[in-house]
Order: sequence, then structure tokens, then C-alpha cells
Amino acid sequence: MSSRKGGAAKSPRSGRFTAAKARRESKRARQRRTEEILGRLQEEYPESRCALHHRDPLELLVATILSAQCTDKRVNLVTPTLFERYPTAAHYAEADLGELEEMVRTTGFYRNKARSLQGLGQALVATHDGQVPDSMEELQRLPGVGRKTANVVLGNAFGIDEGIVVDTHVGRLSRRLALSDEKGAEAVERDLMALVPRSHWTLWAHLLIDHGRKVCKARKPACQVCVLADLCPAAEV
Ligand code: SF4
Repeated sequence: MSSRKGGAAKSPRSGRFTAAKARRESKRARQRRTEEILGRLQEEYPESRCALHHRDPLELLVATILSAQCTDKRVNLVTPTLFERYPTAAHYAEADLGELEEMVRTTGFYRNKARSLQGLGQALVATHDGQVPDSMEELQRLPGVGRKTANVVLGNAFGIDEGIVVDTHVGRLSRRLALSDEKGAEAVERDLMALVPRSHWTLWAHLLIDHGRKVCKARKPACQVCVLADLCPAAEV
């Protein structure tokens, strides 16, 4: 990926990129600015990857369901024992609900999550021979699996760049960087898919999540130390 070579619309790191400039920006210029952002974040976070520990598509699907309203760190504390106790879809399908609830209790909303995991296991056994399918359509037909979860699994367990995960960090940063002015996750995703090179759709989400956690925080973005400050109309510098 030669994201740094194309550069931003105008000489990067020279002068402010204001909200007025963002409003006048052409689609091509916005694509180039996006590639510049991508390149800089890749340099900043060379180890960026999915934070949920997993060894196969089922483990990632389960971890993603558990990560709703919960930190990845907390999920990673719960999953080693869970994955050992329930190694296949059939194990979730036949699980004792009370025991499953107990095992996922600390991730919050544990009753719903346990039911989702059991329903997921049953659907996988009934329709996919216990295997996790590798298409957006089939994944979204599974109970409790929306587009975001399907994107996580396709991108990180199957290496398929089918869409872009838009969580709270990706949404916030995309709006601050004037890459989207949409509020809904799927609308933000559509805007990003038109700007980010497809081969980097999965990585893009990891990079924005890392930057959102470390620098561009929700309440107090650290614009003074942000490598994107000259490309960001929301920069407070
Ligand atoms: S930290 Fe500031 S400059 Fe950096 S992306 Fe966030 S709002 Fe923009």
C-alpha cells in the first residue's frame, strides 16, 4: 500500500485543513486525504489488529456477541474458559442456559447474551453443519448477528473485506475528520467505503479504534499530539 505516496489534496502537514475546506473538498481530494490519514495511522499503529482474542471464526463470533456494551479486555478475560467448555457450535446449542449465563455474567446483559449464544449454536448446527458461514448474507441470517458483527467476522476470521466496522470510535473519528456527516453506523460505513481502499477496510476500523482510544478520545481529543491535526477540520490546536 503506497498510501503515503499519493499525499493529501494539498501538501500534508502544511497549514490547517479547515471546515470550510472540507465543505469544498472534491470526492477525489477526500479520497487522497483519506489515504494520507490511513498511511499516517499505519505508521502510528503498526501492530493494529482485532483486540478480541480468538483462534477461529466461531470464537470470534462468540467474542463479538459478548463485546456488546462491554470492553474487549473484559471479554478476553471470560473467553478462555468459555472456549474450552464450549469448543463447537453443538456445545452452545446443547448448553445448560444457567451455566452459560454464569460463564458470561461479567460481560453484562448476560441473560440475553447466553440466549443469543445458544440460539446461534442451534442455528449453526441446523443450517451450516456447525460451521460459521463466510458470507454477509448468511451471517446476517443468524440470530443476534447484525452487519457490524458480520463485518468483524468476515474481515478478521476470513480475511474478507466486505464492509467497514463502524463502532463508536470509527463513527466519532469519521465525523471529526469530515469523512462523513452521517449519524447512523450503516450510513457512515457507506461513506467510508467510497473513500477507503477496499483492501484496507478491515484495518481501517482497527486503526481508527486505536486512535480513538489513545488520542482522539470522545470527551477530550488530544489534538496537540495528533498526527492527523493538519488533515482534520475539528483540530483544536
Ligand atoms: S485528536 Fe483532534 S486533530 Fe486528531 S483526529 Fe481527533 S479531533 Fe482531529
